[in-house]
Amino acid sequence: MNAQHTDVAIVGAGILGLAHAYGAAKSGRKVVVFERDPAAKGASIRNFGMIRPIGQPAGPLYEMALRSREIWIEVLKEAKLPFFPTGSLHAAYREDEAAVGREFSDKAPAFGYKCAWLTATEALERTQAIHPENLLGALWSPTELTVDPRQIVTSLPKLLAERYGVRFFFNTAVQNVETSFLIAGDERWDADSIIVAAGDDFQTLYPAYFRDSGITRCKLQMMRTVPQPEGWSLGPSLAFGPTFRHYPAFQVCTTLPTLKERIAQETPEFDKYGIHVMVSQNHAGQLTIGDSHEYGLRIDVFDKPAINELMLNYARQYLRAPSFEIAEQWHGVYAIHPDHTYMTFAPADGVLVVAVTRGIGMTMSFGIAEQTLREMSVAA
Ligand SMILES: Cc1cc2nc3c(=O)[nH]c(=O)nc-3n(C[C@H](O)[C@H](O)[C@H](O)COP(=O)(O)OP(=O)(O)OC[C@H]3O[C@@H](n4cnc5c(N)ncnc54)[C@H](O)[C@@H]3O)c2cc1C
Repeated sequence: MNAQHTDVAIVGAGILGLAHAYGAAKSGRKVVVFERDPAAKGASIRNFGMIRPIGQPAGPLYEMALRSREIWIEVLKEAKLPFFPTGSLHAAYREDEAAVGREFSDKAPAFGYKCAWLTATEALERTQAIHPENLLGALWSPTELTVDPRQIVTSLPKLLAERYGVRFFFNTAVQNVETSFLIAGDERWDADSIIVAAGDDFQTLYPAYFRDSGITRCKLQMMRTVPQPEGWSLGPSLAFGPTFRHYPAFQVCTTLPTLKERIAQETPEFDKYGIHVMVSQNHAGQLTIGDSHEYGLRIDVFDKPAINELMLNYARQYLRAPSFEIAEQWHGVYAIHPDHTYMTFAPADGVLVVAVTRGIGMTMSFGIAEQTLREMSVAA
């Protein structure tokens, strides 16, 4: 078998693989990316497209999220891709939700967050997309961006190929990775550095590591509306009180357990299916509405209509959108670990497996890539 050579070989053309390709190529390395499918169809194309630093806990992860956001903006501008730097709102309709929002906004500046608590009137000045009745206020954060994941996953490879000479091999599964080489399709590639960004499936290449990693999977159900009428816009990406349960940033709030308890008692099905409703809008005017969280290695291939109904009913109660007509429904899967936001391990010299292990890979990938490439001495 004839071997070809590259400086850096990357397994997986999801956002994490692309972020590593971008960082390595910008540092002047010759980069090759292998993707087993004709186009990446994992978590990176199935998400909301929210770049959401606000969800990260204060400290290094929040700093990394902000840095990742900075790189995102640089990449989006280079690629001339549309994005919405609209910030985000967490709208509160119950006293316990408002209590968490207020407490977080009191504590947050000391941790470096730029968010603020808005009264109902102030919140309604920022968006036309939430119902005014019973609105108590909202947590406003200016740091969130929205991108279109489908556009990103198809357009970034083009940018990387045209501007940085990155070579992409789609339809090419990597079957084996060793020190200094990998086998992709029926070719051997020698590489100084190999990065495996295989999403929730590094199990195929590293079954023993996967088994011992403590990683499991999370399945999320999602929906997308038809385009909203021209001239109507969501404004900031939206979340609601129940989302405070879901992101580690809000765990500093002493008021959070009360909110959790109320939801557990009032709507146990929200806990059973890990439901909290968030909404983003793409450049075609469609609203993406989700999500639910079902955990375990065995992913149910069949979606539960009841979950979509619960999410849609919730959205109809608080989201004021011209159309709730659903154009698409799908599910996505990501890797999850109870303690780690992302994990790396080096199964051989010059080989690094990187896995995002929470539902925040869109937010964090460019930041993670910058760090791992530095650690591998691929980039300064
Ligand atoms: C429904 C949903 C909503 C989400 N919303 C958000 C959000 O709004 N904001 C946010 O920050 N995060 C969000 N996330 C999380 C985020 O989407 C993921 O963390 C991120 O996409 C993971 O990227 P990845 O590149 O690691 O994995 P993936 O996108 O799964 O990509 C891995 C790629 O590797 C390829 N591959 C695997 N094995 C091989 C092999 N042996 N050879 C070649 N190729 C291989 C796969 O085909 C795949 O294309 C969401 C996730 C889901 C599922």
